[in-house]
Amino acid sequence: MDPPRVITTLDDLRAAVGPLRRAGWRVGVVPTMGALHEGHLSLVHASRAECDFTVAWIFVNPSQFGPGEDYARYPRDLQADLDKLAACGVELVFAPAEGEVYGPEHDTWVEPGAVAGPLEGEHRPGHFRGVATIVLKLFNMIAPDAAYFGQKDYQQALVIRRMTADLDLPIEIRVCPIVRESDGLAMSSRNAYLSPAARRRATVLWKSLCLAKELVAGGERGAETIARRMREVILSAEDARIDYVALVDPETLQQVERVDRPTLAALAVRIENTRLIDNCILTVE
Ligand code: AMP
Repeated sequence: MDPPRVITTLDDLRAAVGPLRRAGWRVGVVPTMGALHEGHLSLVHASRAECDFTVAWIFVNPSQFGPGEDYARYPRDLQADLDKLAACGVELVFAPAEGEVYGPEHDTWVEPGAVAGPLEGEHRPGHFRGVATIVLKLFNMIAPDAAYFGQKDYQQALVIRRMTADLDLPIEIRVCPIVRESDGLAMSSRNAYLSPAARRRATVLWKSLCLAKELVAGGERGAETIARRMREVILSAEDARIDYVALVDPETLQQVERVDRPTLAALAVRIENTRLIDNCILTVE
């Protein structure tokens, strides 16, 4: 496959995408921070299946990282990303420099509402403000018909859906299932930080979600009991530190007491100082 065309300026982006939109093509966008893996590529495949043209966006967005987080060391490998996107048949990649996205006088932010408050919102203050702002800018830059996100970042997808509805953006938000490694660990660019031993310990995240599903299938309905059992599994891994293990309403993200309708089990755990997140929906037969 030919390598995709890489565009770095907004002018070139608009010049490339504008005529396609005017010709009535359905344009899909896949926002990523690069260091691409099969999880990202599943979004690309979904977009290519549903749209006439797919733009992959690669930008490590500084405004969604808090002080002391991993912005500086976040993995960046544009050439490897381009090879993967070429193999998927992507024709256009937008990979702007920071200055192209945030001018020196940039001073306008999107402040998401209640759905950004709990879970990640409590542990990463300002994170969703940065996410919502960059996604709105991206939507305005590309004016896509559809945008593809992963359930891996469940709360992020909810924040984007809310913003899209509240701000009347004519864009379809598609959320694709979590792609996992063969041992269940959700694929993530941050998995690369883990030493081999920590990588093995990281399977406790998926094991705890599987246990939650088993407990619900076995008739357990008490959210606190399920969460406690999940924490035990996670803490069986040496050096695991829990940011949260929560059973919440899948729409509001408010804690539930009983799992008697579909419930989101969501967790954030640090292993060897690498912060990993995962989630699943618990369904009641
Ligand atoms: P990131 O590059 O981490 O910002 O992720 C870009 C997009 O890929 C987001 O919508 C993520 O939810 C999605 N994504 C990341 N990991 C996975 C995965 N394992 N499965 C499915 N989607 C994912």
